[in-house]
Amino acid sequence: MNLTPDIDPLMSPNRAEVSLKAIAHNAAQLRAAIPDYIALMAVVKADGYGHGMVEAARAAIAGGATWLGVAHPVTALDLARADLEVPILAWLHEPVSAKDVLPHAVGAGVDLAVSSLAQLESVNDAARSIERRARVHVALDTGMGREGASGSQVEAIGRAIRESSHVSLAGAMSHLYNADVPEDGSVREQAARFDEMCEKLEAAAGPIPLRHLSASAGALAGEEFRYDMVRPGITMFGYSPLETNLDLRPAMSLTSRISLVKRVEAGQVVGYGARYVTERPTTLALVPIGYADGLDRRLTNRLQVLVQTGSASTLVPQVGTISMDQIVLDLGPDTDAVPGDRVVIFGDPKRYPGVWTAEDLAREAGTIPYEILTSVSSRVPRVVLPLATDSAERTWSVEGERPVPSSFTVHTSGAEDTRRAARAIAHHAKAGDLFVLDGPLGAGKTTFTQGFASELDVRGNVASPTFVIARVHPANAEGPDLVHVDAYRLDEDWDIEDLDLDSDLDTSITLVEWGRDRVEHLSSSYAIVELHREESLQSGPLDDDPDDTDEERSLTVTFVGERYTREELVRIGIDLREAGFSPEQGGE
Ligand SMILES: *Cc1c(COP(=O)(O)O)cnc(C)c1O
Repeated sequence: MNLTPDIDPLMSPNRAEVSLKAIAHNAAQLRAAIPDYIALMAVVKADGYGHGMVEAARAAIAGGATWLGVAHPVTALDLARADLEVPILAWLHEPVSAKDVLPHAVGAGVDLAVSSLAQLESVNDAARSIERRARVHVALDTGMGREGASGSQVEAIGRAIRESSHVSLAGAMSHLYNADVPEDGSVREQAARFDEMCEKLEAAAGPIPLRHLSASAGALAGEEFRYDMVRPGITMFGYSPLETNLDLRPAMSLTSRISLVKRVEAGQVVGYGARYVTERPTTLALVPIGYADGLDRRLTNRLQVLVQTGSASTLVPQVGTISMDQIVLDLGPDTDAVPGDRVVIFGDPKRYPGVWTAEDLAREAGTIPYEILTSVSSRVPRVVLPLATDSAERTWSVEGERPVPSSFTVHTSGAEDTRRAARAIAHHAKAGDLFVLDGPLGAGKTTFTQGFASELDVRGNVASPTFVIARVHPANAEGPDLVHVDAYRLDEDWDIEDLDLDSDLDTSITLVEWGRDRVEHLSSSYAIVELHREESLQSGPLDDDPDDTDEERSLTVTFVGERYTREELVRIGIDLREAGFSPEQGGE
């Protein structure tokens, strides 16, 4: 911005108006079209396709997006700092900055895609340098010849992941090069190649928790291309690469204002190279927006813009070569246009009836709407039209239309599984939550609590609370404390108030072992976690949490009451899937 600091940037006549409501609406359209069990990643690379990354991401999440994706790890860090509470993936490795950026990205919990052994190694090094485990998605080149490992490397990458104690396999991804032409055989071929390569990867690295192949076009081209997650970008911003029934709304409108109006005679040259000469007496208007603002010079003499005068809103031709800072419009002999009148270059026809969309500009410029949107330069102030409070309501699902899961059952074999499931559930826990743990001795209640606590960032080791009755684990940062209670030796008429805890139930998360039928009355909403051992094994040693066994067990969490929204419940299901389980959903 070349303005002096004390001049409001909005003094500029040009604006890129960004409707967050439109982004949320578009995300909701996708969310309604794609089953809940498929994760929805909003791709917000290139500053949210020019709309402003963080605001766009927030709006997409309000509409139902459950992941965020960007190209560059350093951009992912900016997103992570915004604390939007959904996982983030970055897929473009940068060797030069890897040493500086990757440890921060891993530390911030950003998932990273790797396309080669060398890239895996640098992620591994980054994770080791900060004593963390990185979550990697192996990018597979299924035919596009861009990012992604080639077939011959997949096994080696898989083996290296399995052998590393600093990376874990979080997913496998690829990208379609012709998904906007779904009848093209390459789409199916790439999907088949993806399956094959995933199989190879799985054989070497173990189960792949999340497979994803499709951006907007693939996601809309067919169910078979959706796998576990889709990665739409352009659809979020209101444009579809192929025919669709979705009701999409362009999220950006580019506007300016007339700065000069003048009468000219026939034969008047307009602009460099005299590429336009008036054929009659007419009125020209100067508009202070040009190719340095992102207006493609190839649109010269092809563009039509909407002019809003006192009396009407009309489409008029842009004439003469597009300059760096300005364009000229031919308004015709009869116009009441005056300096200051608004000009809309492209945008949402619902907001500006008759206006061209980025799609129209793209057609005339011989490009795609993506380029039109991302070309709007940084000197054009973005004016973000806020998500009206009512539209921030979760618009993406109509209650009663699709079933709401209220319980999830996963099968576990061993303590590590129990902890992983607990972490996925804890990820959604918030202050005031009550979890009632149920199950016989040795079923893994304390193990569950340990996993749960590790997700929450609280102090102190979680041990069986049998001899202390209750232990408070204070939060390290701003989150809630964890209160871990053993209700085994308490009377039927026990009340948690009798424990005189330092922590308040409303501001902490409380887990109660042996709490079934003892503590539910404390809250109108709670979750019951039932841990079962297989019948035949229950006669084993009655030692709680024998961590070293690989017993088959099951874990069911049932949410009672209205504390968890439908969306949160759906996300818990998604997170369990992403943690490698196949949750059975109940209570629908
Ligand atoms: C850009 C991109 C997307 C999103 O593409 P759209 O066509 O905008 O939906 C998804 N995945 C990858 C890997 C990308 O680079």
